[in-house]
Amino acid sequence: METSRGDLNIPFRTLLGPGPSNVHPRVLRAATTPVVGHLDPRFLELMDETMGLLRFVFQTRNTITLAIPGTGSAGMEAALVNLIEPGDGIIVGVNGYFGERLCEMASRHGAELRRVEAPWGQIIDPDQIERALAQRRAKVVAVVHAETSTGVLQPITPIAEACNRHGALLVVDAVTSLGGSPVPVDDWGADVSFSCTQKGLSCPPGLAPITVSERAVAAAHARRSPIQSWYLDLSLITKYWDSNRVYHHTAPITMLYALREALCLVREEGLEPRWSRHQRLSHALIAGLTALGLKILAPEPHRAPTLTVARIPEGIKDLEVRKALLSEHSLEIGGGLGPLKGQVWRIGLMGESCTQANVLLVLSVLESALARQGWKCEKGAGVVAAVKALA
Ligand SMILES: *Cc1c(COP(=O)(O)O)cnc(C)c1O
Repeated sequence: METSRGDLNIPFRTLLGPGPSNVHPRVLRAATTPVVGHLDPRFLELMDETMGLLRFVFQTRNTITLAIPGTGSAGMEAALVNLIEPGDGIIVGVNGYFGERLCEMASRHGAELRRVEAPWGQIIDPDQIERALAQRRAKVVAVVHAETSTGVLQPITPIAEACNRHGALLVVDAVTSLGGSPVPVDDWGADVSFSCTQKGLSCPPGLAPITVSERAVAAAHARRSPIQSWYLDLSLITKYWDSNRVYHHTAPITMLYALREALCLVREEGLEPRWSRHQRLSHALIAGLTALGLKILAPEPHRAPTLTVARIPEGIKDLEVRKALLSEHSLEIGGGLGPLKGQVWRIGLMGESCTQANVLLVLSVLESALARQGWKCEKGAGVVAAVKALA
């Protein structure tokens, strides 16, 4: 078989998992724009435009608001490694898989780690963060805004207030919230927030948007030791993005074309209409899943509009259902992570994937896959409930 050239032959998928989400044709088209040099005057302009657009979606005036090569995890690592020196205290809120990842990274960078835990599916109690800070000073507090393993949306304001009272820097993982749910960085007073391109922004994966407060920049400048990672050193990266234009790495030109276009789409839609679209359609999805007899893991009112996590009913085979959705309907949903493996489905409605048609599609195909395994519910119950919720 000739494989050295010819079509890639990748099928179209409706992406309703925890990311990536579907990409708008305009973004794909932008990615086919000719590659120029990473110091080309037009490209430098595009970087400035992208910074402006990122400030808009992060709702911030932070000067350092840019996109690091790599995925959301690169944003996470950059946030931690720029602030933490070996021996520095960090308090991490852990109520899911990505809180664990924050801990893992913080430990590797030599932090003195303290965990404030909540069961998977619950929010972190802000009072517990406050108590931990009162007990012993910490340089950094890190929490996940939308925990993608559970669908929980963490209230940030009370945690930010506690950080403020105790002089700690606040790091917020906004990977699954940015572009689908408000991420008001300045109103929160968050010091470092980061995200990815492939979830709420509906861009291919490959960049990590990040925004850094003046306070965090000052803390990084005051370090006694150099930042452990050369590649993720934000002071070096900033010298490329600001007027110095000092070469640090070769920017992923094509990805920045795509990101700029995706951010333009967000601006054209407007933040408020975009958030309410995600809110309205996730309510409809939840109404439909509930009508099918499924239970939602996260309690009201702490549900992320971008990702709904539903318990798999007793006796239903997880993989069989997900395989049927993929092979028969070219539709992807996510399985559970960690202790929730085989226990839950994770259904994302992010960016371009967040449409009424997709809500009705996933409810209808899920119903038939469940019925095939003997699950009993009224015919069409999910779709009917979703339509009613949307009326
Ligand atoms: C997806 C995700 C990450 C990691 O992002 P990658 O792009 O997969 O590296 C980090 N935090 C949260 C909350 C996520 O959902």
